[in-house]
Amino acid sequence: MTYHELTISNALALLSDRKITSTELTRALLDRIKQHDDRIKAFITVDEDMAMACAQKADQKIAKGQMAALTGVPIALKDLLCTRGMKTTCGSKILNNFVPEYDGTVVSKLKDAGAVIIGKTNLDEFAMGSSTENSSIKVTANPWNTDYVPGGSSGGSAAAVAAGFCCGSLGTDTGGSIRQPASHCGVVGLKPTYGRVSRFGLVSYASSLDQIGPITKDVKDAALMMNVICGNDKKDSTSARVAVPDFTKAFDQFDAEGLKGMSIGIPGEYLSVAGIDPDVEKVFLNAKQIFKDLGAEITEISLPHTEYVVAAYYIIAPCEASSNLARFDGVKYGFRHEGTDDLIDMYKKTKSKGFGAEVKRRILIGTYALSAGYYDAYYGRASQVRTLIMEDFANAFKTCDFILSPVAPAPAFKIGENVDDPLTMYLSDIFTLSANMAAIPGISVPAGYSSNGLPVGIQMMANRFDENSLLRAGYGFEKAVHLEKRFPEL
Ligand code: GLN
Repeated sequence: MTYHELTISNALALLSDRKITSTELTRALLDRIKQHDDRIKAFITVDEDMAMACAQKADQKIAKGQMAALTGVPIALKDLLCTRGMKTTCGSKILNNFVPEYDGTVVSKLKDAGAVIIGKTNLDEFAMGSSTENSSIKVTANPWNTDYVPGGSSGGSAAAVAAGFCCGSLGTDTGGSIRQPASHCGVVGLKPTYGRVSRFGLVSYASSLDQIGPITKDVKDAALMMNVICGNDKKDSTSARVAVPDFTKAFDQFDAEGLKGMSIGIPGEYLSVAGIDPDVEKVFLNAKQIFKDLGAEITEISLPHTEYVVAAYYIIAPCEASSNLARFDGVKYGFRHEGTDDLIDMYKKTKSKGFGAEVKRRILIGTYALSAGYYDAYYGRASQVRTLIMEDFANAFKTCDFILSPVAPAPAFKIGENVDDPLTMYLSDIFTLSANMAAIPGISVPAGYSSNGLPVGIQMMANRFDENSLLRAGYGFEKAVHLEKRFPEL
């Protein structure tokens, strides 16, 4: 039995048939982490005792015939999600000793569904980055080739799934941080519609863009996790009051009708973006052909404000970040610089020592852009552009069910290659930022490989609350695409 290859649905079937126990499965994955995670560095915290105790509890439930949606299944969490009694660092020195008093809503929901929380995964500090190199704790490696980045900022969560350290994980996505690392690590990543999932207990980066979502081995598992984590929450006033469907129904629909009647939009602007890697283009064109063969209709669409997306995002996100991160001042949480002269000196030294370079850069940009006299020119202007981007998508979805695009312009790059070049890093977010700006859902599904053997995904984006189209199309695509190797050998 290769425990580490089990998807969530495989694991649930074996657990309910009593072919395996959660204790065995959890033990096997913990051993695999012990054996390989010193090279991959996906985890910041692994609490073996807690995980094993949870697994035993799950086995007792199963024995009593009380299985819930994820009973006994080991799941990892991005270390930006508050976990009661378990360190939550956000990849930052400023929170290196922060232990929350409560669980985030998604964490409670996972626990209520019987999931075994196996550990907390590495990330770019406060989710700011696209490679997980901005973590102040460690740099995660891509399990397919440890010289390369896993993508980011949920690089630890994506690497943990690809490496078979857990059956699935949660990441967060403010501008692509679920979809892009999923693409680079050869796994599935779904960013839900803004408001689908409660953000209570998620440490905020940019509150109007942040969403929590699943990273899994296949599309079916993404639906299984969505069924658990979605829903209105009175603790998050931005969580939507919409009914949560059974997301797995999308698969029945595909099995019955295929993609008949579905129309796919290809944005002309995306293919003229400078510097698309030929390997990415090849994978994308192949995906387009697969969708055609599946019976979908392909139409050319236009997203005319694409060229302003990166600029607008990199004003809005830092503005919100500068406001959100003001709370980390050495008084209430985590690290405090000792031996300072007075309160102001303590603030200064705590923030100087506690925050890393990228976080400081964003705080400075955001504070500057929000300051009196500049607000209208920067934040106000960027917000207007955001409205135009939303309208682009609203128009596009009048003529198509979902939009197909690459996830990132290039496959994973080498660790260290872009780390001193923030602009290149920001520009690589071009295809993923829009979904957050427009508050729509997006999914990344494995679609092929680069010439040096690294995974490359494709992205689909749909209208608000239409995760169903993404899951239906993603599931169909996954069945049709031929991938020689689903998981890396460690
Ligand atoms: N790369 C983007 C940024 O650095 C997106 C990060 C994210 O989605 N958390 O802001």
